[in-house]
Amino acid sequence: MRKVIVQKFGGTSVADTEKIKNVAKTVIREKNNGNDVVVVVSAMGHTTDYLVKMAKDLSTNPSSREMDMLLSTGEGVSIALLAMAIQAQGYDAVSFNAMQIGIITENVHSKARIVNIKTEKLKKNLQEGKIIVVAGFQGVTEDGEITTLGRGGSDTSAVALAAALNADRCDIYTDVEGVYTTDPRIVPKATRLDEISYEEMLELAHAGANVLHPRSVETAKQFNVPLRVRSSFKLDNLGTLILGVDKMEIYKPVTGVAADLSQARIVVCDVPDVPGQAAKLFGKLAQEHISVDMIIQSYARKISNTNDIAFTIDSADLDKTIKTLEEMKKDLQCGDIQINDNIAKVSIVGAGMIDRPGIASAMFETLADLGVNIRMISTSEIKISCLVDKEDAHKALQALHKVFELEGSEIADVKGDLPNV
Ligand code: ADP
Ligand code: ASP
Ligand code: MG
Repeated sequence: MRKVIVQKFGGTSVADTEKIKNVAKTVIREKNNGNDVVVVVSAMGHTTDYLVKMAKDLSTNPSSREMDMLLSTGEGVSIALLAMAIQAQGYDAVSFNAMQIGIITENVHSKARIVNIKTEKLKKNLQEGKIIVVAGFQGVTEDGEITTLGRGGSDTSAVALAAALNADRCDIYTDVEGVYTTDPRIVPKATRLDEISYEEMLELAHAGANVLHPRSVETAKQFNVPLRVRSSFKLDNLGTLILGVDKMEIYKPVTGVAADLSQARIVVCDVPDVPGQAAKLFGKLAQEHISVDMIIQSYARKISNTNDIAFTIDSADLDKTIKTLEEMKKDLQCGDIQINDNIAKVSIVGAGMIDRPGIASAMFETLADLGVNIRMISTSEIKISCLVDKEDAHKALQALHKVFELEGSEIADVKGDLPNV
């Protein structure tokens, strides 16, 4: 029986027509292996950044519906061009956007979750022998409204399609040779991992390793999709396989480190210490689709009987969060709301840290030796995160990468340029 393979190519891989021709060759190579191929592509190069910039030039607060209308156009260009490039090589290809297929999402703009993918059209076209090219990053609500899945969301489109089609593999082609122990742009001696567990990859992705969109890893884990991250430019290299933790040999306590510079910390001061306040506060934020990461509540002050609640959010949600909190101030009967977006989260991740004492203290000592102040701490079974000042993030990452013995001997090969918009 023929296998179904989903391939995803990111922005750098389709940055110009020459690169699109190369992608066409990679797709055809898979087809010539006798497989059915569904390809997901991102917008070309820095198109999405450019579209965001144009919107910001016109409005300080563009509506999220119109942002989705705008940003979804980027992927529309690359699917048509890739389908043409494949056809030009003598193969049958057809491109579809999310609306044409029915990639149904919840009714939320700018970070919608996929709830269902209709597979009839995909299966029919595969049966006819066609290579299918699908627009990543976008979805459609049951009412026909265009949505997007959040920046970097094409990875999630690819994995969700792979799950819906029960694909044999989902290959994420990108501008690095796989998943590394940290971002090779920040630590050039980062080491490529042959394999990593879904759990560790999920923590790393949430911690700022944007090589994979967090929800793509979540979906791959949920539906057991075999996922591989590999280079668009070095095709014989197998990259990194993401698989269940039970299938792995664990040697080191820490598998990878990451920094997330797009965080903001909010402190809601002097919240009366009575039941229901946290439920009220975080309930409202959830209603507004604002995800909260670290949370600390201080001990109640004896005289005023109030406490402070501090938490972190994605800085993209900062304006919305401030607006929401200002509206709640009366209801919460709280004091000042303090905001700091000059912060970053630095994390170490590893399934090998379970039941191994001393890992957290080694992390704190490393930061102390650098003179880096820790502002908040949060942990999970396989992750420790510290909130630090933004200017300290990269030196902290470099030091932690060394201390936990993750350095390799070679300089990683990174193809794409940094976003410049
Ligand atoms: P694409 O456009 O292909 O989706 P992205 O820019 O979204 O590519 O993701 C690839 C980038 O992720 C790399 O160029 C690298 O700088 C960054 N990155 C961050 N952390 C890691 C990591 N642990 N391993 C590999 N790449 C990482
Ligand atoms: N084009 C979108 C972005 O730049 C989605 C993606 O590339 O995954 O965020
Ligand atoms: Mg990406």
